[in-house]
Amino acid sequence: MHKHYFQPEAETMPVNEIKKLQEYKLIHQVRYVYENVEYYRNLMDAKGVKPEDITCLADISKLPLLSKADLRDAYPYGMLATDIKNCVRIQSTSGTTGKRVVAFYTQNDVDMWEDCCARAIVAAGGSEDDVVQVAYGYGLFTGGAGLHGGSHKVGCLTLPMSSGNTERQIQFMMDLQSTILCCTPSYAAYIGESLKERGYKPGYNTLKVGIFGAEPWTEEMRHDIQNSLGIKAYDIYGLTETSGPGVAFECECQNGMHINEDHFYAEIIDPDTGEVLPEGSKGELVFTALDKEAFPLIRYRTRDITVLTREKCSCGRTFVRMHKPMGRSDDMMIIRGVNVFPSQIEAVLLNNGYAPNSQIIVDRVNNTDTLDINVEMLPEDFSDTPKVITKKEKQLQSAIKTMLGINPIVHLVAPKTIARSEGKAVRVIDKRKKLGINIKFSRQ
Ligand code: ADP
Ligand code: ZN
Repeated sequence: MHKHYFQPEAETMPVNEIKKLQEYKLIHQVRYVYENVEYYRNLMDAKGVKPEDITCLADISKLPLLSKADLRDAYPYGMLATDIKNCVRIQSTSGTTGKRVVAFYTQNDVDMWEDCCARAIVAAGGSEDDVVQVAYGYGLFTGGAGLHGGSHKVGCLTLPMSSGNTERQIQFMMDLQSTILCCTPSYAAYIGESLKERGYKPGYNTLKVGIFGAEPWTEEMRHDIQNSLGIKAYDIYGLTETSGPGVAFECECQNGMHINEDHFYAEIIDPDTGEVLPEGSKGELVFTALDKEAFPLIRYRTRDITVLTREKCSCGRTFVRMHKPMGRSDDMMIIRGVNVFPSQIEAVLLNNGYAPNSQIIVDRVNNTDTLDINVEMLPEDFSDTPKVITKKEKQLQSAIKTMLGINPIVHLVAPKTIARSEGKAVRVIDKRKKLGINIKFSRQ
């Protein structure tokens, strides 16, 4: 029997009931955090807010926001809300944007997190009949542990591969008949490329679904991966600070990710002013963990830019959906005054038949920003004459200019010369940062 929901009582709860539940949990959680986390109590006191001032969901805007800088300040134990002996796990962020942050979990926290991942697996069509190949990194990174736990909860046969060793990934995928692949989208693309090189065509294996996340990826990338692996590819979102992957997940509609609202309250704020924006606005996503025990963050700024929608979803889930984040506010580059996300460049490359592997180099020469993009040429183009290559570079250049509004310099480089990623891809080298030039986030 195909179960559509892992926890239908939560996932299909009427919206007004979700709100009531969130309100109830929020009021309790604020008091719990105030009483147990000195760091946050100090922030609340400084703002003149007391737990009793929080009587409904809208009151949340009275509470102070938390940022990654706060977590670094409070490192390692400053945000811990319970005795360390009640904790059973520590995980850590990937450190994509600087010093790692550590998060603590009680057994209830781990259970909640794994339930969220189980919801994601079931929403992608998973059941106890599936073999789940977990190719996210295991260890401190939350990707491996989260999907591993979720897979157990669903009762799937779990293959704890971790990332890397692509040869073995492919061998086990074939021999052990994996049906669901979980990894970063950039690693999925690499596995697809490796399968093709070995002469496998989509459909040669039993794989049917992928659950990919932990980094931004475009719709173009989704199509590319779906075609190369012959699967349906679903998005999953999360961050260590709120638990890990599974905070939000895609359903069969593949049209935005449902946020697990019984556990997380989401807001969209203006990243410059911190002001809460009305429903449907694009802005920075902020999360409040409603029932975490060990590391219960209130109003945590994710720096991810997205939009929330309450439009009805035909899957029957009532949880609000978030659009694919375009990237983090700190992924955004300002080049010659124009806001540029690496994901926009990735979309143009894929639309023009190139692989997503690219390297973006930003620099400043004679007070002008420069944008160079190294792109791998297709293997069949490798024998082109220099003249033909230059022509192709110009074509790509103009396609990117149309998208971004500024002119890049495109360099087509030999196939396989840009490093592949087994985890989160690093695509941008911003040399201006070394020069100490202020390229801080500004709003689009
Ligand atoms: P780090 O912040 O060091 O990378 P994490 O490993 O906890 O630490 O990563 C969380 C971040 O990864 C999120 O804030 C978001 O920027 C990114 N992320 C996770 N899942 C997705 C996704 N599906 N789409 C886009 N970005 C994602
Ligand atoms: Zn849905």
